Amino acid sequence: MKLVIVGTGYVGLITGACFAEFGYQTICVDKDDDRIDTLKSGKCPFFEPGMDELLSKHLNITKLLSFSSSLKKSMVDADIIFITVGTPSRRLEDDADLSFVWSVANEISENITKYCLIVTKSTVPVGTSKEIKKIISKKISEETFDIVSNPEFLREGSAIDDFMRPDRVVIGTDNKKSEKIMKELYRPLFLRETPIVTSSVETAEIIKYASNSFLATKIGFINEVADLCEAVGANVQDVSRAMGIDQRIGPKFLNVGPGYGGSCFPKDVMAFASTAKKFNVDLSIVNAVHHSNRVRILKTADKIITNTKKRSVLAFLGLSFKPNTDDIRDSTSIKIAVLLNKKGNIINCFDPQAMNNAKQEFKELNYFDTAIEACKNSDAIIIGTEWNEFRALNFIEISKIVNSKKIFDLRNIYDQTELEKLGFEYYGTGK
Ligand code: NAD
Repeated sequence: MKLVIVGTGYVGLITGACFAEFGYQTICVDKDDDRIDTLKSGKCPFFEPGMDELLSKHLNITKLLSFSSSLKKSMVDADIIFITVGTPSRRLEDDADLSFVWSVANEISENITKYCLIVTKSTVPVGTSKEIKKIISKKISEETFDIVSNPEFLREGSAIDDFMRPDRVVIGTDNKKSEKIMKELYRPLFLRETPIVTSSVETAEIIKYASNSFLATKIGFINEVADLCEAVGANVQDVSRAMGIDQRIGPKFLNVGPGYGGSCFPKDVMAFASTAKKFNVDLSIVNAVHHSNRVRILKTADKIITNTKKRSVLAFLGLSFKPNTDDIRDSTSIKIAVLLNKKGNIINCFDPQAMNNAKQEFKELNYFDTAIEACKNSDAIIIGTEWNEFRALNFIEISKIVNSKKIFDLRNIYDQTELEKLGFEYYGTGK
């Protein structure tokens, strides 16, 4: 099978490289020429563990992977075309901006020469794949193509492993022919006994949003429980642990923090509720989760402001929306750092991977080469993102270079008693 992947963002590039690893001839297409040049030279445009090696292997050794800025040329002889372009929130609106998806659909419709599958891997609201079908069938007969929804569940930071060993693969089709082709495509995963969930196209589209919204709900829920724990002197970490042992609940996504961020949860939660509203369905729980998360970011910043002097120098450790990625899209850490800066504080940051991205967008923050340098002369240290390298900072050394021994551990990665022994004033989350 010859595969074409349209969009070389996190999802497109990882999908392309992993399908090449399965042994398929794969062309990744992007309209961004600079990005394609970077990829052709073997460099990954973002940080993702294992990607440099995978790219180099399939670009230079197996030659199963190639890059192009022409969808028209790449589509010749293609058996499956994946749409993996971005679906961000629309400006000032909650629903998904599908303009990139429509543009790809139009381009595909003008260039199909033989039967192929068009697969939406981008996260799109229910009904989108059917719209794509309408767009394409205006130009080409419906026998020449089929539309499939195959949502992606990978997580940045462990994306390759998630793609190679997914919890499940969801395949939404409207006929047996396309289901058979998709099952053949994912055959390498059968050997690992990966569950394949087949459904209608609409059901597959909803599975993705329902999954992300449910995970966001878990985070929102435990964060509110953390507030109660803090108010009454209980410990949310013990609460999470005891809840998580219950197999009906499970331990994942019960870690408290300053709220969820990233390129998916915030926009997907909003888009899910917004889509439902169009069908006169009130997803009130999902709406409440979104509201709770927005408030949480403000409350976290407030807690820091209330417990530090005016015009403090604040060392901010961790800027990416989670560890092991350089992605800062909708990063909660950055939102809090910017809020603190707006209130007159000086923010001295360090992040192991996300500094370049942050520097380009947030010139008001100061950037340092190491965590220790960022901590120098600070009035308080804030742990924003729980990178492993922040888990064992040398606080004996740090206590000698800070102005004031104070730490806001937004991710609860430190032991309060140990830091208090060293003379630090410790503010955890929900304890
Ligand atoms: P991204 O913004 O990082 O990348 C999208 C890419 O598509 C960009 O490189 C852009 O130049 C390219 N593009 C846009 N229009 C194009 C066109 N007409 N032709 C060719 N290329 C075009 O996006 P992403 O983070 O990879 O996400 C893609 C989709 O996958 C989104 O719907 C997202 O919600 C979903 N998703 C993302 C993740 C994640 O962890 N990032 C996980 C699962 C699902």
